[in-house]
Amino acid sequence: MVDAKTYTGGCLCGHIRFEAKGLAVNPHTCSCEMCRRHTGALTAAWVEFPSKAVSWTGPGGAPSVYRSSKVSSRAFCAMCGSTLGAIDDAPTVALLVGSFDEPDDAELVPKGHSFRSGQPKWWTVEISQR
Ligand SMILES: [Zn+2]
Ligand SMILES: [Zn+2]
Repeated sequence: MVDAKTYTGGCLCGHIRFEAKGLAVNPHTCSCEMCRRHTGALTAAWVEFPSKAVSWTGPGGAPSVYRSSKVSSRAFCAMCGSTLGAIDDAPTVALLVGSFDEPDDAELVPKGHSFRSGQPKWWTVEISQR
């Protein structure tokens, strides 16, 4: 058993902050249409944690949510509009790696790319595995 690690991150304005403890699950990138529209970016980088492992530590508490599908809600800051991730019914919270304080963490390096076909043809994603 590895020591429980604590990851931190938050939105652009600092109203919503999170702490995620333990094992970072399924780090991956995704270029599906929903992720594109949710982030405004061509590809989103995700990492998942069990809901219990994530606490919302900023002055704004839990983020605002938009029900994006039957199984999940997208989370964002109502003050600055930054997107933070997705809160699934599953009890999983998926956080966007771009919102982490230290996105360079080895455990956050994407292991795969979902919906590569959803990205524009002129865009490529290269992940350097370390
Ligand atoms: Zn904010
Ligand atoms: Zn996606």
